Amino acid sequence: MQITDNILLLNGAGMDSNVYCIDNELLVDAGTGSFVEETLEQMDRFDVDKNNIKKIVLTHEHFDHTGAAKDFKEKLGAKVLIHDEAELTEERSISHAFDGDFEPPEVDERLSEGDVLSTKNYSFKVLHTPGHSPGSISLWDEESKVLISGDLLFIDGFGRTDIPGGDEETIKESLRRIKDLEEISALLPGHGTPASEENIYDDGAIENILSQIQ
Ligand SMILES: [Zn+2]
Ligand SMILES: [Zn+2]
Repeated sequence: MQITDNILLLNGAGMDSNVYCIDNELLVDAGTGSFVEETLEQMDRFDVDKNNIKKIVLTHEHFDHTGAAKDFKEKLGAKVLIHDEAELTEERSISHAFDGDFEPPEVDERLSEGDVLSTKNYSFKVLHTPGHSPGSISLWDEESKVLISGDLLFIDGFGRTDIPGGDEETIKESLRRIKDLEEISALLPGHGTPASEENIYDDGAIENILSQIQ
């Protein structure tokens, strides 16, 4: 699904997280690993040049986002990036909750607050937004006002905190940071339908969810 001119939504089937492809250069999240072949097929259908994908950024450590990272890394020859505080262990990936066998990818680069991930049309700034998990990040492009929120914030709710590494007070602080961003034009969450000007899920959906942050 085309979300904006240069961002594709490639997956989000079953338990899988959404997988976004940005500027044919960067993947955000990977899914559990159940739909790797289907995701690769979708790339072909959208004329994505797979050789041009250089990085896979993981929004946090959970299995539904990271389970397929090792596979994609091998198949695409791409680097894997995740926040400094994300522990890719069985416990922290909560792979048992997904009945998954977690084979963590080798991490090539650790991210911190303020790092910038640049592609042809975007400069995504890394915001460390823990609470759902210690290593949760959001990606914010100041110019286009696109926010990729992982499992911090969805169109219809907020991330869970009742899991190992989750913390309610911490997620509230992270959500307030998001509320303070100016005019989010597109919200690309880790699950569920994204909202953008080109792809209106529901008029006023972004304003509505932001207004629920206290
Ligand atoms: Zn998730
Ligand atoms: Zn999660």
